[in-house]
Amino acid sequence: MIKALLTMDDFSVRCTPAIVDYLEGKHIPVILFAWGQNVEQYHDEALYAVKKGIVIGNHSYTHPHFSEISFDEGVKEIEKCESVLDELYKEAEVQRKYRPFRFPYGDKGGENKELLQKYLAEHGYDKVDDTNIPYLWWKENGLDKDIDTFWTFDFAEYNIRQGSGFTLDDVFKKMNDMNPTSGAALFAPDSYHILLFHSHDETQELVPEYYKKVLDECIAKGVVFVEPKFK
Ligand SMILES: [Zn+2]
Repeated sequence: MIKALLTMDDFSVRCTPAIVDYLEGKHIPVILFAWGQNVEQYHDEALYAVKKGIVIGNHSYTHPHFSEISFDEGVKEIEKCESVLDELYKEAEVQRKYRPFRFPYGDKGGENKELLQKYLAEHGYDKVDDTNIPYLWWKENGLDKDIDTFWTFDFAEYNIRQGSGFTLDDVFKKMNDMNPTSGAALFAPDSYHILLFHSHDETQELVPEYYKKVLDECIAKGVVFVEPKFK
């Protein structure tokens, strides 16, 4: 069986409600990782997702490369996004149960990596349960120890941009690649994934309902989407 936890980054966007409605219709659980500034910009859309009970994670306030800023600046990024999210939950009158975190670009902070992990552990951030992830490289890279939420498969659909030459076909090729150079093969039997996907209006403009096209294909190939659980 192929099991997968879906995560979508850079929440919130104009098309958040459409994405949320699609996911709800297909019974696909998700963690939406919030870019603090985007939540402020698309506030009503963000509120819509929170009221549906979706778990919202912290993805920093301005989405910097954490290896290019100081530890203190990194902490400010995390805390500013965190207070935006606390306000959002308060306004939605929904109790905030979980606080997962994901670094923008998967950049764990370079020389500040250890300090940042310690910060996350000591400030109540929740590690996504990765007990069932079977890949050797997950442990070899210490991802079983890190508090932040990394991934086992990246759809790379954010490369679909005006003039990039990267198309939905390339996303499908990546999805069907059984020997990927990084990460794990999406459709290999007995897989267990944390999937990296994004909510981007730009992608939606170029490929309407890209999320439906990609995730329907996952369902057709037998992927079972699992509820987020935390350690
Ligand atoms: Zn991001």
